[in-house]
Amino acid sequence: MTVGIVGAGQLGRMMALAGYPLGLDFLFLDPARDAPAGRVAPVLHGAFTDPKLLGRLARECEVLTFDWENISVDALRAHVASAHGGRICPPITALATAQDRVAEKRLFERLGIPTTRWRAVSSRAQLERALREIGIPGVLKTRRLGYDGKGQVRVRTREDAQRGWEELGAVPLLYEEWVPFDCEVSIIGARSANGATAIYPLNGNVHSHGILRLTRAPYGPAGWHRVAARHLGRCLSHFRYVGVLTIEFFVRNGRLIANEMAPRVHNSGHWTIEGCLTSQFENHLRAILGLPLGSTRPLGYSAMVNLIGDIPPRQGLLARAGLHLHDYGKQPRPGRKVGHCTLVEPTPARRDRRARGLLAELAPGLRIP
Ligand code: AMP
Repeated sequence: MTVGIVGAGQLGRMMALAGYPLGLDFLFLDPARDAPAGRVAPVLHGAFTDPKLLGRLARECEVLTFDWENISVDALRAHVASAHGGRICPPITALATAQDRVAEKRLFERLGIPTTRWRAVSSRAQLERALREIGIPGVLKTRRLGYDGKGQVRVRTREDAQRGWEELGAVPLLYEEWVPFDCEVSIIGARSANGATAIYPLNGNVHSHGILRLTRAPYGPAGWHRVAARHLGRCLSHFRYVGVLTIEFFVRNGRLIANEMAPRVHNSGHWTIEGCLTSQFENHLRAILGLPLGSTRPLGYSAMVNLIGDIPPRQGLLARAGLHLHDYGKQPRPGRKVGHCTLVEPTPARRDRRARGLLAELAPGLRIP
């Protein structure tokens, strides 16, 4: 059985590595010659929108999925759905919603999920109005194609807002209030076509320059997990979702405020590979192939540290007892996620101590709540 994956990044690579023990094969589509999944599976090289290649992927695979959400919804719809009787998971409607911050905010509001106050901004007049109604501080974001903090300008003064408009205003924007959050969390869960769900424990995330640096899980009081799981459940049912879905939240005074959702396996779930009975990657595959979902029971208290820019010397990393290293095989570049490592510990205190020790070396100065 072959799974087709649009995008051959590290998420796709980890999906393939999770699928081989189940006897699955993989075929990827990606324009990059050196895409990380290319080291472990065949890749069709070409644009994500290439009709011939999408058609071939659809013909040769039982089901299609994606590891990257900035792919063309129209191309997927046109060239795959007809050829494949709709076997694209997660649903394209969820992908379309996640690609547009305004559609995403409207969905959260419709489902009763608290989110930041926001206004759509497509003109200077709308920007003025948004600044008046939402207030400063805030953040201007492109409606589409933003990730890892790209396409965002933080607004602390009116001058920042003008600068943000000049930098980003060529495309539709969204202005939202700045949330002085206590911490950031995310929740990941899988849903099968028969409505069964498997929800992972809550992740506590620390970002630096818009990029995820540290995830700890299980994280936070049980009440946070319950609220996040309820919100996730609403989104999963709304889309009749099949596969893994993630929602990221800010936490302010114990209240969860949804920031965004990702219709795919997620960077904040890498720890599930060693830290849970069934990883998010395996559960995504099980869900899209109609197989029973696996248990999300944690095997301890995990910390996942992203390796940004380049992989530090392996000698030093692997000398740390119990450290699991994942090197994505990418060329080093400042700000690029090139790998991660995971520690699984018997207590939260020990996990936090070891994560702090590792980060003191890899990212000195990072503030960890
Ligand atoms: P995003 O691309 O929306 O996930 O933003 C990347 C990161 O920027 C988030 O994880 C936060 O750390 C920060 N951020 C984005 N929007 C806000 C906001 N409205 N208030 C506070 N921090 C934000």
